Amino acid sequence: MNAKIAVLAGDGVGREIVPEAVKILKAVAQKYHHTFEFVPGDIGGQAIDKVGVPLPQETLALAKQSDAVLLGAVGGPKWEGLEYSLRPERALLGIREALGLYANLRPAKVYANLVDASTLKREVVEGIDVLVVRELTGGIYFGKPKGIEKLPNGEERGVNTEVYTTDEVRRIAKVAFEAARKRRKKVTSVDKANVLESSELWRKVVIDAHKSYPDVELSHIYVDNAAMQLVRNPRQFDVLLCNNMFGDILSDEAAMLTGSIGMLPSASIGAKVGLFEPIHGSAPDIAGKNIANPIATIASAAMMLSYAFQLDKEAEAIEQAIVKTLDLGYRTKDIQSPGARIVGTTEMGDAILRNLN
Ligand code: NAD
Repeated sequence: MNAKIAVLAGDGVGREIVPEAVKILKAVAQKYHHTFEFVPGDIGGQAIDKVGVPLPQETLALAKQSDAVLLGAVGGPKWEGLEYSLRPERALLGIREALGLYANLRPAKVYANLVDASTLKREVVEGIDVLVVRELTGGIYFGKPKGIEKLPNGEERGVNTEVYTTDEVRRIAKVAFEAARKRRKKVTSVDKANVLESSELWRKVVIDAHKSYPDVELSHIYVDNAAMQLVRNPRQFDVLLCNNMFGDILSDEAAMLTGSIGMLPSASIGAKVGLFEPIHGSAPDIAGKNIANPIATIASAAMMLSYAFQLDKEAEAIEQAIVKTLDLGYRTKDIQSPGARIVGTTEMGDAILRNLN
């Protein structure tokens, strides 16, 4: 296939880890006879330095004209004093909004060799492979009315509104069921249908959407129980389908089960173009030292192949290459363990490249 990929490395370690992912994608293209065109664009602090804004129009246009976007990270101490609307992080909100990214997919997977990096016991985390599918553009973060108002008695009143339409729920449920088909075919829908009407509707629509996916198993769980089960017995979950707020919270909880932020990829799905990025930030404390872990970004590239281009075999090849590299004892500093072979960012990328079949 032919695909145009916008490459927005951004700031800090973004500039070191993104080239490693591109290196792997180029090798995949060659091995599997695809043509990927990589077009770089400016975003975040480096865009501010270059043209004065964190998300230049050219970058937005590039993203919209591409088949997928690979993003590194933005931000850093250099730009922290800027007014909020000009900060590098604004670019993230801007690009998500412009691309209409309504679904965020975050896998939390524990690699066999990194089980001890988790704060939980080995027997709880071994074999975890959970995908949190979070609705990203609706719910309480956007619902109206919202705001803080003064009351006649001098007190104040803060209001947010949890609101979902059938369309919004159907759309995200579909993403979860489709994702489950690429995995162990189990969706657990998270809600609070015992007290919230919006959750009652959520559950009804999810059940209805499920009719088109008879091969996928569907169950429902209240969010408080989901939070508990994630630390008690996380292996029971395959795909967790969540609204915006529940997904925000549970995806961080799921991520922490694995113990290492440098390992975790993410995908954001829109009507047309998807955006793929590691969940971590620009890590200014380690930037420029060739010690950042590129695996989260390389795994994000694998998600791009699977979710944007339906190249599941190629995505699996990258996953396998990561597993093999870890099995061979290669570690960046953040995931080091006794007896392991500590390597830098580029060396880790090279090792994964060598193990790509
Ligand atoms: P961070 O994720 O950048 O770093 C947190 C910790 O994890 C640091 O100790 C860092 O060294 C470590 N870490 C992160 N990625 C790593 C990697 N690939 N390999 C090894 N270690 C890694 O979060 P922070 O320090 O809170 O934020 C730093 C900057 O990044 C801020 O400006 C923040 O606004 C921005 N940020 C950007 C994004 C994004 O671009 N999506 C997300 C979060 C934070």
